[in-house]
Order: sequence, then C-alpha cells, then structure tokens
Amino acid sequence: MALRNLAIIAHVDHGKTTLVDELLKQSGTFRANQQLDERAMDSGDLEKERGITILAKCTSVEWKDTRLNIVDTPGHADFGGEVERILSMVDGVVLLVDAAEGPMPQTKFVTMKALSLGLKPIVVVNKADKPDARADWVVDQVFDLFVALDATEEQLDFPVLFASAKQGWAVNDLGDEREDLNVLFEKIVDHVPEPIADENGPFRMLATTLEVDPYLGRILTGRIFSGKVKMGETVKAISQKGDRIEQVRLSKLLAFRGLKREPIEEASAGDIVAVAGLSKATVADTICALDVEEPLEARPISPPTMSMTI
Ligand code: GDP
Repeated sequence: MALRNLAIIAHVDHGKTTLVDELLKQSGTFRANQQLDERAMDSGDLEKERGITILAKCTSVEWKDTRLNIVDTPGHADFGGEVERILSMVDGVVLLVDAAEGPMPQTKFVTMKALSLGLKPIVVVNKADKPDARADWVVDQVFDLFVALDATEEQLDFPVLFASAKQGWAVNDLGDEREDLNVLFEKIVDHVPEPIADENGPFRMLATTLEVDPYLGRILTGRIFSGKVKMGETVKAISQKGDRIEQVRLSKLLAFRGLKREPIEEASAGDIVAVAGLSKATVADTICALDVEEPLEARPISPPTMSMTI
C-alpha cells in the first residue's frame, strides 16, 4: 500500500477535528456500524489529566490504495525543537484556514517551521459555506503571510482548495459542484511526496512523542527513517549525543489505523509507528538496530528539489 505522511496546521476552531472526522468517514476507514465515539485528535483533556505530553497524535486514513498518516501539530509553543521533530515525520502539510477569519498569528510559528523545513503546503480554505466567508481575501492573506515568512517560489505557488469540513466537500473552484472530499484526497496524494525511505538500511527510528500506558508502559512514537523492524526484535536506544541508553526487546509494535493503534508484526521505512518495551528512552532519542552508532536528527526529509510525485 502506498503511503503519505502529512500534518494539518490549523488555528483552534478552524475545523481540523471536523475535517479529520469527515476524511475518516468518507474513506470508509470506519465500518458502517462503528460509531465515532471519540473525536479525532481531541483527547487533550486526558493528556492534561495524566500530566503527560502527547503533542503529536496520528490518525491514519485509507483512501483507495494509499494510507495517509495525519499527524497533529502543537500550537505555537516550541519546547526544545518539538515542532521540528513532529514536522520531520511528515513530507507535506495542509494549512487549514477559516474562510471568514483568515490565518491567525498563533499558527504562524508552526507555518514558519514547516516552510523552513522545505515542506510545500496545501492551503484549504475551510468553512466556505459560511455566509460571511471571504475566500479570496483569505488566500491573499495566506500568500502575504508566506512572503513574510520567506517562502520559496515553489512554496508560494501553493495549491488552494475551498472546503466545508462540516458539509463534507472540497472543491478546486467555488463554482464547482460540491460533492465530497475526493478533491482533497487526490490533492494530498499528488502533492505530498511519497516518503523517501531506505528500506535496506539498518533500522532507525526517531522518537518524537512519549506517552505512558497503564498496560504497555512507555510508548514512543516516531517515523522509521531506514530499515525494517519486527515485533520482538532486540533494538537499542541512543541519545542525540550518540550515547547508548538501553538495549531491549520490543514488547509491542503498533501502527495507526483510523483513530486507533493496532499491533503489527513488522514495519518498514517511511511509516510512523509506536513501540513499547523501552524503559529509559525518551523523545529525540534514536531507536535503532544494534550496529547503528549515529543518532538521527530532526531535519527536512524531502528537500524541495526531491519533492516531485512518482
Ligand atoms: P478544531 O478546533 O480546529 O479541531 O475545530 P473543530 O473541528 O472542533 O470545529 C470548530 C467549530 O467549527 C465546530 O463548531 C464545527 O462544527 C465548526 N466547523 C468546522 N468546519 C466547519 C465548516 O466547514 N463550516 C462551518 N460552518 N462550520 C464548521
């Protein structure tokens, strides 16, 4: 199955949760009788309750023969390179902007980081159904923001879609028939590059988020940059400085499916997965095969010159 990793950047209330829910529904990722009991990307209260940080949640949507891993981005705050690490899991971003309000200053920081990592945004002007929508003005505002943030010419040539997440449609042009979100699915598959993945290299994964599960213990989530990993395999963790932290047998390997995580037997380069079994490793550490010495750093995965679709 083909794969795309992307993040959605949106100001609070601009419709990110509604959009992800609708993508899940329209992709058929949910079975017909399965209720959306938990809204996508909306478990913030639980995180606060537990007093832990899970900044990036991932939702996985299957559309035709492609799986989209959609990573949630934090707000404007940057804790020790968190935003970079999260964005270095993805090859593209969707910037979701309210059609009446336009881009908000709070998302500027994340947008700036995305642009400086070489990601080419898809701009989605959401809530285009609202009577006070001013879509063209919003597109101009986004353009001005990108210019102010030193976007490249390629980034300034961003594709724009108009959408109503609530009504479940996206169009290239406001005059087009408003049917479903297929235009957005297609745009993501075309515009977000396939992950560049070295499947034959040694297993290396950058731990991006950490959470503590009552049953599984520490769960580290991140992108596999090279190689493959199997459930039960012995791996090690190394710090950003290259120091060895621990060597353990992976007790769980989980992949994102819809809003849930499911155990899998094997995962390979390009995918975003979660692992359990490590007791000391933390965010920004590299989890890798025993013969790896060099840690990974958060960095752009797909420089603009390599970002054409295959
Ligand atoms: P989030 O904070 O970005 O996750 O935003 P939500 O998805 O929770 O949406 C915030 C509010 O905007 C909710 O009341 C939604 O029903 C509403 N909303 C989301 N998308 C649309 C849309 O396309 N059109 C309209 N009119 N309202 C929307």
